[in-house]
Amino acid sequence: MDFNKKFWDDYQKIITNFQKLPAVGIKSGQRYFEHLIINKDLNYDLIKSLEDIVKNFQRCLKCFCLVYKNKCLSCDNVFSLKHHLFVIHSLNVFLNLIQSEFKTGLFFNFEKQLSLAKKITLDKLPLPPLITFINDNKTTIKEVILIFDFTLEGELTKNYLISHLKKHFPDLKITSLGQGISKGSAISYLDAYTFKKAFINRKDEE
Ligand SMILES: [Zn+2]
Repeated sequence: MDFNKKFWDDYQKIITNFQKLPAVGIKSGQRYFEHLIINKDLNYDLIKSLEDIVKNFQRCLKCFCLVYKNKCLSCDNVFSLKHHLFVIHSLNVFLNLIQSEFKTGLFFNFEKQLSLAKKITLDKLPLPPLITFINDNKTTIKEVILIFDFTLEGELTKNYLISHLKKHFPDLKITSLGQGISKGSAISYLDAYTFKKAFINRKDEE
């Protein structure tokens, strides 16, 4: 292959791979490339981190939270009281919660919220795995706490879940976060105090 063509092919492949990350477009991809050419040491740190992710971190296939060195931080946490099931929508929310005092409970990462803008429609939501997860833990789970953003997307997702969970598990207590959180708030940005207040004031979803 012609040298120039080979160069452009390889360069393009690198930029295209950067673009697979969220919020990275062509321009950011090109900036990352330039930064990594100038700061060569950073390449080795990144390779190490990527190898670490590949080797030690996975998505749990039962709860979609995080497996580290073959142990799920939610399902295999022997210290957690498993009568609360927190349904959250991102790994970041999960990590924030287990860092705070809300580490006692089971978690299910719904991974998504309904969104027209992001083309996340009802059929893309992982409802069947959530139903299976609750069925598998039916004897321990006493309450499902829905934790979604206080935005239109979060509210729609929450209401969708409430109606389906009520249908599948008529006797299960379902709650969601209560007062203290203003409309438009993303759960990932809540401080521990506000979250705790909203948790204590959680409301029954009839
Ligand atoms: Zn798990």
